[in-house]
This record gives sequence, structure tokens and C-alpha cells, in this order.
Amino acid sequence: MRFLAFLLLFGQSLWALPADSLHVTYIANEGFLLDDGHQAVAVDAFFTHGLNTFDAPPPAVLAQMRTATGPFARLRYMLVTHTHRDHFDAALVAAHMAANPLCQLILPHQGVAALQKQPGYAAWASRVTAIGGKFGDVESPIAASSLGLTAMMLKHGPYMKEGINKHADVQNCAYLLQLGGKTILHLGDATVDWNRHLFPVEPLKERPVDLLFLQYYDIAEASAQWIQSQIQPDQVIGMHLRLGHRERQERFMAAVYPGALFFRTPMMKKVF
Ligand SMILES: [Zn+2]
Repeated sequence: MRFLAFLLLFGQSLWALPADSLHVTYIANEGFLLDDGHQAVAVDAFFTHGLNTFDAPPPAVLAQMRTATGPFARLRYMLVTHTHRDHFDAALVAAHMAANPLCQLILPHQGVAALQKQPGYAAWASRVTAIGGKFGDVESPIAASSLGLTAMMLKHGPYMKEGINKHADVQNCAYLLQLGGKTILHLGDATVDWNRHLFPVEPLKERPVDLLFLQYYDIAEASAQWIQSQIQPDQVIGMHLRLGHRERQERFMAAVYPGALFFRTPMMKKVF
């Protein structure tokens, strides 16, 4: 009996999270770690450079990523929305994939060439799923079926230079997934404003979204209305805020999405 009590107490400490709860840790920029107490999923967390404009992961956190230690020890899925430097670093991804044999990597097809150049790629290539297809396509990779993962190929927000959109061909996967009893949609750098006409709404119909990770500047009135009618998120989480402009950008976003939540410093955590 005493032994059973010990087991129950000990078991309790292993299950620190109540059932159906989700820990969200802000890594930097659009990078988040989602953890249900059993397994963790990273989205856009594995990058090193904030382009002197955005938060970047602190050195101690980068070391944990490389060695698959700390909160990254139970990482089972690494998701990458697109391969810009403030979201993705091929060498950092490669180090983690080599150190963590249980991790599956899912990324847009455009990232594969950079991975292939990494020494040791062949050892973990079988755990890489590349998402291709046209803008507006939907894919459910088998490697992440336990998350009910749906990848939606969307357009990266425009970056105009001399009248040309330099990001017109950038593949940006939005990810819809389930973890800790919550449904999560992370749009990466795809704005609803730029994707309304091709956004695949079918996957959203069956799955009410609890947490929507959205860029702070996706605040056009028509987009906010579209989000309200099609995504109906319980909680909007603002991301991609600029260093030195955070307060103003938070105000802009909260005016359009009342109750929007912001993570202000790397490794800040919240339980849902
Ligand atoms: Zn970005």
C-alpha cells in the first residue's frame, strides 16, 4: 500500500501538466515550442539570426536546440513555415536532427536543398517531409498524423522593391494541428490579407481553432472579418514584432483583435 502511494506520488510528478493542457513557450520572433507534457512540437524556432530587427533565440537556448536537451529533449516534430533566416537555419536544424533520432522535420520543399548541403544529412533524411504543391493546396503528412497535422501552402506576405514583389515565389506553409487538447493554427509569414482568395477553408470547418498565431500587421478590416467568420479563434497570439516598436505594434493589433496576447521575451511561457 505504501509502495502504491509512492508510485502515485511519483507518477504525479511525471505528469506535471493536467490532462488536455498545453504549454506554449515563446522562443523568438515567430518561433514557439508547444508541449503537452508528453511531447513537444516546435514551429519556426530553429533559427539564429533576428536580422537585427526581431528577437532571436538566446545563446543558451541555441545550445539546447543543438544538443536536444532541456525543453527540446522531447521534441518530436519540428515544423518550419518557410526558410527565411529569421525562421530557419539549416545548420541548427541539422544539428538537432542528428542529436534527436525521434524528431520528424516538416518543411516546405524550398528548404530541402539547404538541408542536403549539411554534413551527415543522409543519416536523418528519412525523417524529413517536404511539402510541395501550389498555393492553396493542402497536405496531411503521414509523419505527423498523430498531431492531425494539416499543412496549407500559402503565399508569404509581399515584399515590394522597385514595384516587384520579391517574395512572390516563397512557399509558406501554415500548419493546423492538435496538441494538449487544443487546435492550433500558425500562419508563419502568410498574411490572411494576401491569401484570402486562396485560403483553404475546408480543414477549418471541422476543427474550431483555439490558438491562432498571426503576424501583428495582418489587421486589414476585411481580413479581421474573414478571420472572425472562417477561423473563429478563441485566442489570437501576435507575432513577428519589431525590436523597439513592440508597444506600438501591440496596440495596433489589440485594437483590431481585442484580447490578443503577446509574448514579450524569449522563453516566456503560458499554459492553455
Ligand atoms: Zn519573417
